[in-house]
Amino acid sequence: MSAAFDPSFAEEPPIIPLDMHPPVDLAEDLERLNAKLATYLKPEEIATVGAAFDYAELAHRGQLRSSGDPYISHPLAVAETLADWHLDTQALIAGLLHDVMEDTAVAKEQIAQRFGKVAAELVDGVSKLGRIEHQSYEQAQADNFRKMLMAMARDVRVILIKLADRWHNMRTLGPIRPEKRRRIARETLEIYAPIANRLGLNSLYRELQELSFQYMQPMRYRVLSKAVKSARGNRREVVGKILESIKRRLPEFSIDAEVMGREKHIYGIYRKMREKHLSFSQVLDIYGFRIIVKDIATCYLTLGALHSLYKPVPGKFKDYIAIPKANGYQSLHTTLIGPYGTPVEAQIRTRDMHHVAESGVASHWLYKNVHAIDELQKKTHKWLQSLLELQSASGDSAEFLEHVKVDLFPGEVYVFTPKGKILALPRGSSSVDFAYAVHTDIGNRCIACRINSELMPLRTELRNGDRVEIITAAHANPNPSWLSYVRSSKARAQIRHFLKSQQNEESAALGERLLGQALPGFGGQLSEIGALAWERFLRWSGAKSKKAILTDIGLGKLLPAIVARRLSGSGDSAAGTVEPKPQNPILIHGSEGVAVQLAKCCSPIPGDPIIGIIRKGQGLVVHTHDCSGIAKLRGERGNWVDVDWEPGQGRMFDVAIRIVARNRPGVLAKVSAEIAAGNSNILDVGMDDDHGLYTSLHFTLQVTDRIHLARIMRGIRRIPEVERISRVHERKE
Ligand code: MN
Repeated sequence: MSAAFDPSFAEEPPIIPLDMHPPVDLAEDLERLNAKLATYLKPEEIATVGAAFDYAELAHRGQLRSSGDPYISHPLAVAETLADWHLDTQALIAGLLHDVMEDTAVAKEQIAQRFGKVAAELVDGVSKLGRIEHQSYEQAQADNFRKMLMAMARDVRVILIKLADRWHNMRTLGPIRPEKRRRIARETLEIYAPIANRLGLNSLYRELQELSFQYMQPMRYRVLSKAVKSARGNRREVVGKILESIKRRLPEFSIDAEVMGREKHIYGIYRKMREKHLSFSQVLDIYGFRIIVKDIATCYLTLGALHSLYKPVPGKFKDYIAIPKANGYQSLHTTLIGPYGTPVEAQIRTRDMHHVAESGVASHWLYKNVHAIDELQKKTHKWLQSLLELQSASGDSAEFLEHVKVDLFPGEVYVFTPKGKILALPRGSSSVDFAYAVHTDIGNRCIACRINSELMPLRTELRNGDRVEIITAAHANPNPSWLSYVRSSKARAQIRHFLKSQQNEESAALGERLLGQALPGFGGQLSEIGALAWERFLRWSGAKSKKAILTDIGLGKLLPAIVARRLSGSGDSAAGTVEPKPQNPILIHGSEGVAVQLAKCCSPIPGDPIIGIIRKGQGLVVHTHDCSGIAKLRGERGNWVDVDWEPGQGRMFDVAIRIVARNRPGVLAKVSAEIAAGNSNILDVGMDDDHGLYTSLHFTLQVTDRIHLARIMRGIRRIPEVERISRVHERKE
């Protein structure tokens, strides 16, 4: 903290050109930044950046980095990276000021006053939240990420500043204690490097990986880099030879190209060894080349030329020009069998594609008139938009961060819509992910799918090139079980959102019925409770709305009796001794949705004597009177609800029966025919695998009520082979 800094100074700081600035040891850095700015900014813009430098220098004056350097050297380095990307004045100002809010006494308003709202927003976006007391480190970290990612969704420059910041911190991590170093390195590898990748900032992505690896696994890094160095001489010879052959061959096809060998990164080698179970020499013996040509047609021509030079390895060709990666990357990839049988990897691309491949989103500022960038901008925007949706659906920062990590995972599959549009989905996605990627409404209403014209279950994992068609139904709803297999953050967020609002609706409806049941006990009627009484109750309870109260009752968070007593006014009266009258049971029809559930242990059907229990957060669960499962719950007071079946409704209920029959051919067919004749559906059939005199058959049927079931069981009993028949309460899982 620099206590010496006087914020009142912020109102009238002098503008000093950068090159005239005093701190001697920073002169060289400043000069370099100035020179870079001069290549693309106007003099008055450079002066504003200079003013921001002065402001930051004063704010940080007296602070030192762990290395002993003056603190200002850090924001200065960040600004230089931003200048390399040709970012605008506001981003440069924010880059210079990015640490003042966190580390000095300067407030956001002061920055806004001096340098404008936009720059202040950018600084705020990269600043951490104040640490809340009793908060764990992980929680604080998750909260901070969430804040930053939200700011980045509003303005992508926020993350570019943060990445420049992280890059410089990673380059100067040396003097920090090892434990903290490893923590920062892991965070970089798990979050910042993938974000750089997602935004197409490839060279930064590789550098962040390299630096993280170096700090996380110092031993491995040292061993590998030593091995790479000693192999280099031998490699150089092979690389030179291949390079020569390619350069000779291309002109024969009238191709004008820039050809270069690619150096392997230590982390890349390490990862390939681990993921593909290759030895060091196997990885190192793959030679990489990059060929840059003038247009797309020449890319394909070059591919042909290479395949005529060396034989291609079948199945290794990838066309990222026709189908770009999600981060906008485009190239042709092929693997050839080079001299001495060594694999040769080639990437072929145009100059524009190369810009995007190296600097991704930043190429928007760097190369202002490139077509590919528009497309990339759109994609980035869409991704950021999906982050915002994710944010509104998951309440918890840690959970949100987990979703983002999944989203950043680079594996993707490419599938087609019926109209031939290409969609990129995370690897492992199902047609539910696909449906939500097309449109939220399609996702919410999907019931089945056709993959390559064949009807398939919704959860089928999609493969590259699949053509997917979603079948919807007007009244279909998302199924909670989808959450167990969807991969994309959008699908997950939308399903959760739907289930939550649906549960609230249903719980409120149930809560209203529970309250209506409880009120007469206190001498009231639901219809008699006026707006005034509700308002009084809301003020007393501090709840947001009448609906929130009803929802809480339905969810079992509030006892209906307590609300009823208060609402009817009997709680206030000194007499307060209204005789509780017997309550009318709540009528259940079994299709209330998630608010009312028929217990799995006893599967009640209409006609069974039933009882309900409200459990916190679960809503009302209905059991049969004789269910063995509820015996354990008897001790719980106050949560029991008198329930009964609503007469006459068409719904079918699942019920399980067990039949013991003589083991004769045709017995299964006879039983099935009898069930069908009784107007029931058979959901499941099982047969005990014994070859004795008797066998048991298990059926899961659908019936309207107990009478219906009794009629069917009577019919089955008349079959001569049937010895015994009984209803099964404990359903097999
Ligand atoms: Mn910083």
